[in-house]
Amino acid sequence: MNVYDSDVLKSILTKNNHSIADGLENADLIVVNTCSVRHRAEVRALGRIRDLKQYKLSNPNLKIAVVGCMAQRMGEDLLKELPFVDLVLGTERLFELDTYLEKLEGNRIVDTRVDGKLPDGTIPKSDSDYSAFVAISRGCNNFCSYCIVPYVRGQEKHRPAKQIIDEVRQLAQKGYKEVTLLGQNVNSYKDGIYDFADLLQMINDNTEINWIRFMTSHPKDLSSKLIDKISNLSKVCEHLHLPLQSGSDIILQRMNRNYTSSDYLNLVQQIRGKVGDLCLTTDIIVGFPGETPSDFQKTLSVLEKIRFDAAFTFRYSPREGTKAESFEDDVPEKEKIRRLEILIVLQKEISQKQNQNFVGRELEVLIDGYSKKDKTRLKGKTRTDKTVVLDKKEDFLGSFRQVKIISANPWTLFGQLQ
Ligand code: SAH
Ligand code: SF4
Repeated sequence: MNVYDSDVLKSILTKNNHSIADGLENADLIVVNTCSVRHRAEVRALGRIRDLKQYKLSNPNLKIAVVGCMAQRMGEDLLKELPFVDLVLGTERLFELDTYLEKLEGNRIVDTRVDGKLPDGTIPKSDSDYSAFVAISRGCNNFCSYCIVPYVRGQEKHRPAKQIIDEVRQLAQKGYKEVTLLGQNVNSYKDGIYDFADLLQMINDNTEINWIRFMTSHPKDLSSKLIDKISNLSKVCEHLHLPLQSGSDIILQRMNRNYTSSDYLNLVQQIRGKVGDLCLTTDIIVGFPGETPSDFQKTLSVLEKIRFDAAFTFRYSPREGTKAESFEDDVPEKEKIRRLEILIVLQKEISQKQNQNFVGRELEVLIDGYSKKDKTRLKGKTRTDKTVVLDKKEDFLGSFRQVKIISANPWTLFGQLQ
């Protein structure tokens, strides 16, 4: 969502007579879009912002703006802590950056007001020429006990379906091949008339886009209607990111997730029964307050049962103002690290086996760039969002090709063009 927001902001600014500088030393405005989800993200952002001070010494006209979640959370404190920062704009105000720049005139401004305002619908230019993000909703009403998102991004707000469909239509006309619909919980999308399943149907039927993806799905809101759409709509890809967070029911309850591990297992069984070749990915937190070795063991055993294609794994990080902040953070940091390592090793083994299952098969691949490690080779992705590396053929960029998979590691498939 932050990548998308930065692209939206960039497009708004370029529309209003700004242009992209070719390096920080040549910029008259530096905008830092921040994340608050874990403490480490904020520490890193603060470090990066402090490094920017040097550019003010060589360019007295330079303005520095800090925007987004950390700006929303810290507000005035950021200006106090960082005397060289000119502007601090929260998650709903950042898209009006241009107007605030006009008001600056040597002052320093903080604005973190929230009134449910959505950005004006400017379509951002993404780094990729083939894949684009499209936000369908913003904010979150779930209040998982560990999570700061509802506090910094505010109440859930949904874009009208018509505006979303228009955006996808325009992206397809510009040559984009796939869109990823974004929301903190896409399954709770509603615009007064249509729900998320309806939205998928309309994008599938009324736009020229080839592939449709979405994230993130909350297990408590994944309806049978939606599962049917994922299975029946030809453009909707067979990939689901479905955060589990923990395999222990006591921990899930204290996380306020509103499902048990067996609810989750049943849901996965239902989806896998209807969507062949589904690629399932997840998020897991280790070391949540009160997580005993036996709770952690339950997470490992759910991982073994479900066999996710990939898992994003995090150490619990207490966030100010959340419910879990009042729970004792009683798992020592060393133990959190140990559990994380065990989890990563197990998941790596599972990912390797999951990917190995594709060896020998022919898959449809959207060729979208060059391999990061070897620029002489092309890379692409499958409908299931697996990265495939293959031999270079320049004119294939942006096209869909049949590729035979010849080998795999836990993160990548390697193939030959057919
Ligand atoms: N709305 C999405 C994404 C939320 S943030 C969802 O509900 O899944 C992405 C991930 O960060 C979460 O799924 C969770 O695993 C992790 N996360 C959020 N808050 C955290 C915290 N305080 N400590 C550690 N991980 C956290
Ligand atoms: Fe945070 Fe839960 Fe909302 Fe996701 S669903 S953003 S984890 S509160």
